[in-house]
Amino acid sequence: MATNRTFTMIKPDAVANGHIGAILNDIIAGGFKIVAMKYIQLTAESAGNFYAVHKERPFYADLVSFMTSGPIVAAILEKDNAVEDFRTLIGATDPKKAEEGTIRNKYAESIEANAVHGSDSDENAEIEGNFYFSQFERF
Ligand code: GDP
Ligand code: MG
Repeated sequence: MATNRTFTMIKPDAVANGHIGAILNDIIAGGFKIVAMKYIQLTAESAGNFYAVHKERPFYADLVSFMTSGPIVAAILEKDNAVEDFRTLIGATDPKKAEEGTIRNKYAESIEANAVHGSDSDENAEIEGNFYFSQFERF
């Protein structure tokens, strides 16, 4: 059964372009409740660990350098069917392929600087949330 939580980051491009407020509005309007949130800048080590599954991909070094290029907003979100519904709300990885009205369609710059992260499974949502938030930082 699907759990009701997912993990997201508003990535450095969207923060730098002034989209934090608009993206949080879309997330809340999409029926998600924010149960943890922080504004931080990742180190190369933490970004590298977060994206370790992509270590062998050609874009890994660029991705780590992009994700450490400025601050991000990390958050845990709650809604029924959270993982799948959030992936629908953000759209495809490549904003050129993201459906009209999705967060990546509206705010992303490129396949790399694509505005937001969304967990791809319940298991990863749990792992990713725990990566950033202690038990005292989520509600
Ligand atoms: P996601 O789950 O939709 O975020 O996509 P993936 O898990 O496949 O990739 C993780 C992140 O790596 C994406 O959100 C992008 O920021 C970046 N990325 C994915 N594919 C590419 C690519 O082909 N080129 C580059 N430069 N970055 C990519
Ligand atoms: Mg992914």
